[in-house]
Amino acid sequence: MIPILRTVADLRALARGWKARGETVGVVPTMGALHDGHLSLARRARAECDRVITTIFVNPKQFNNPEDLKKYPRNEEADASLLATVPVDAIFAPSVEEVYPEGFITTVSMAGVAQPLEGHMRPGHFDGVATVVTKLFGMSLADRGYFGQKDWQQLQVVLRLVRDLNLPVEIVGCETIREADGLAMSSRNVRLTPEGRAKAPVLYAAITRAAEDIRAGHADRMAIREAAETMRAAGFERVEYIELRDAETLMPSDDPRRPRRMLAAAWIDGVRLIDNIPV
Ligand code: AMP
Repeated sequence: MIPILRTVADLRALARGWKARGETVGVVPTMGALHDGHLSLARRARAECDRVITTIFVNPKQFNNPEDLKKYPRNEEADASLLATVPVDAIFAPSVEEVYPEGFITTVSMAGVAQPLEGHMRPGHFDGVATVVTKLFGMSLADRGYFGQKDWQQLQVVLRLVRDLNLPVEIVGCETIREADGLAMSSRNVRLTPEGRAKAPVLYAAITRAAEDIRAGHADRMAIREAAETMRAAGFERVEYIELRDAETLMPSDDPRRPRRMLAAAWIDGVRLIDNIPV
């Protein structure tokens, strides 16, 4: 079985031993309820680092919605079995009190890339992410951190964070893993009803179509409006945003010479889904 560590002291002691022998440490931060997307990150870390730690921590500071936090799926036993197939060297699954002990008062707060889209829809979310990622890197003595492109804006936030704070960690962005019908894998997908699950792939299909139309010369705004209409017609209750942005700054961009990204968030069946693709 893979050792499951609960305290920062134990994690530090383990990582210090590895580093003393000159081994590189890769860290894969997750909130658990693992699927193939998470495992692809762990496998990449396994291939590139001497030692791999997967962290499982449902970080309350990055949830702006208490109901979402309460309903977030948790299954540590199943997660540990999946991680044994990679395999990783250790799982770090601390309690909330271990990560945020009494008296904790520091927040890593970011402007710019953390403000639009997810930052706007979920106030405080990226400050919670930046704070916990900074802490996890500090606790684990990570040389490399692995993040999914599924959460594109989060990946840009983390890249900015390590640059701005001179964290000695190399960030590796990994491709989005999808179900056969195109739906991006997500821990929240288990909350979909069978009907919702059947309609959910329309999100990816609609933004893919819009990106193709834009590449073919259609007006950005028209293509995006059509994608939103397709999603509403398919039964999405609410399209929060579909936006074409500069891939790095996440600011509005109509400059096709810069890398651009189409990002979307929408609700189906009471579940909030996000996705993004290059344009
Ligand atoms: P989460 O547990 O949702 O916080 O995700 C942990 C990490 O896994 C993040 O870096 C995510 O971007 C990444 N991830 C989640 N879903 C996928 C996916 N379908 N493909 C690739 N990476 C993913």
